[in-house]
Amino acid sequence: MSKPKVGIYGLTGCAGDQLVILNCEDELLNIVGALDIKSFSMAVSESDDDCLLDIVFVEGTVVQPRDEEMLQNLRERAKLLIAIGTCAVWGGLPAMKNEFSQEEIKKKVYGPAGDIFKTTAPQPLSSFVKVDLSISGCPIEKEQLLQAVASLLHGDLPRLPGYAVCTECKMSEYTCLLVEKGQLCLGPITVAGCKARCPGYGQPCIGCRGPVEEANVSSEIEVLKEKGFTWVDIQNRLRTFVASIDPLQIESV
Ligand code: SF4
Ligand code: SF4
Repeated sequence: MSKPKVGIYGLTGCAGDQLVILNCEDELLNIVGALDIKSFSMAVSESDDDCLLDIVFVEGTVVQPRDEEMLQNLRERAKLLIAIGTCAVWGGLPAMKNEFSQEEIKKKVYGPAGDIFKTTAPQPLSSFVKVDLSISGCPIEKEQLLQAVASLLHGDLPRLPGYAVCTECKMSEYTCLLVEKGQLCLGPITVAGCKARCPGYGQPCIGCRGPVEEANVSSEIEVLKEKGFTWVDIQNRLRTFVASIDPLQIESV
C-alpha cells in the first residue's frame, strides 16, 4: 500500500504547532516511516510544493494576502485539509487586533514604514476554505496529533473531545480555582484535550484551546460577574484566543 502524501505548512504564526510535530521524538521515526512527507519547511530541506496531497496540515492565521493565496492553493491540492493550532482554528492571538482599525494598528507598531506591509484582518482557515478537521491548542497536544495521524492512516477522522476542560479537571480531582478560589477560569467553556494542564499547576485556564461546542458563554459571564470580575477583565480574557466570541453581544446577562 502506498504511503499517504502529506504536506505540513505554516501561514503567519509562531510555528509552535510544527515544533510539536518535531518534538514527537520517540514517535517521529514511525510518523516519517508511515507518511510520504512532501513538504515540511521546518524539517525537510527539499520540498515538492506542486504535487497533489492526501493530507495537508496547516497552522497559522490568514493575516496577509499571500496567506490566503497559499491556503487556496493547498486546498486545491489536498484531499483532506487539517487546521492545526488555535490560530488556524479560531484566529488565535493575532485576531485580537480585529477590534481595532488595521491601519491604526500598523502605524502604531511599524510607524510610517508599515505601509510596505499588506495586512488584512486575521481570520481562521475556515473563513476561506473547507476544513476537514480542526485540532486546536496553543500549541496542539502531541497526543491528539498522534491520534489523528493513526486514525488518518486507517482512513478515519479521529474523535476529539467534545467536552470542557472542567471535565478533565474534575477527573484529576484538582481544586476548582473558579468556585473555591474565585479566579477567572475559562475551563467551563474551553474544549478539553490538555488534561486541564493549567489548573493542575494552580493556574486558571485562559482558554487557549478555544471554545467547546455549545459553550454556555453567558452563564460563564454571569458566574464571573458574581465573583466580582469587571466587564473589561472578562472581555479581555474571552477575546484573547478567540476574537470571534463577541462578548459585547452577550453583555446584557
Ligand atoms: S479550576 Fe477551572 S477548569 Fe477546573 S473545574 Fe474549576 S473552573 Fe473548571
Ligand atoms: S488549561 Fe486552558 S489555558 Fe491551560 S493548556 Fe488547557 S486549554 Fe490551554
